[in-house]
Amino acid sequence: MRMPGCEQLESCIQCGTCSGVCPLSIYMSHTPRQVMALTRGDFKREVLHSHTIWLCASCYACTVECPQGIRITDIMYELKQRAISEGVYPRRFPIPVLAHEFNAMVQKHGRITELQLVIRMFLKTSWVAALANWRLGLDLLRTGRFSLLTERIKRRGDIARMLDAVDGTKGRS
Ligand code: SF4
Ligand code: SF4
Repeated sequence: MRMPGCEQLESCIQCGTCSGVCPLSIYMSHTPRQVMALTRGDFKREVLHSHTIWLCASCYACTVECPQGIRITDIMYELKQRAISEGVYPRRFPIPVLAHEFNAMVQKHGRITELQLVIRMFLKTSWVAALANWRLGLDLLRTGRFSLLTERIKRRGDIARMLDAVDGTKGRS
């Protein structure tokens, strides 16, 4: 609740509006209302291991409709970041793996190389999915949308310092 956008969580009245408007709640292990209740109740393990935070598509419908002005989408973001930083995200679920690999590449090179990112994601999740998409991959290579070379920016230390500064700011808030 100290994190930016999460301050109003205490005022949740468990009305369920967020779950009602969420287009993805029927696929979630916990509805948005349940995630708010678990987070407020400090059920950290249950929340951080839940697939719900990774299914959230950041559409902001819940945040717009919440009668208490709770920024549910921002809370979902915060939970995702916390799950990644504590290494407790579902290991073979593509969305957190993609986010983790994306972040690691930006930290190291200042930008991502799509082909390497996709290969790393499939290696850590499912090669079956990679095989099913081989034709799309070839098309992207052929049209220059995938690079075989590692892409990096100049002065990579600058971006690492910038990301460290953002982390430091969050830690103090
Ligand atoms: S809509 Fe807002 S007040 Fe209602 S359950 Fe969801 S977070 Fe709580
Ligand atoms: S922002 Fe996430 S939790 Fe909220 S309605 Fe959209 S998908 Fe559901």
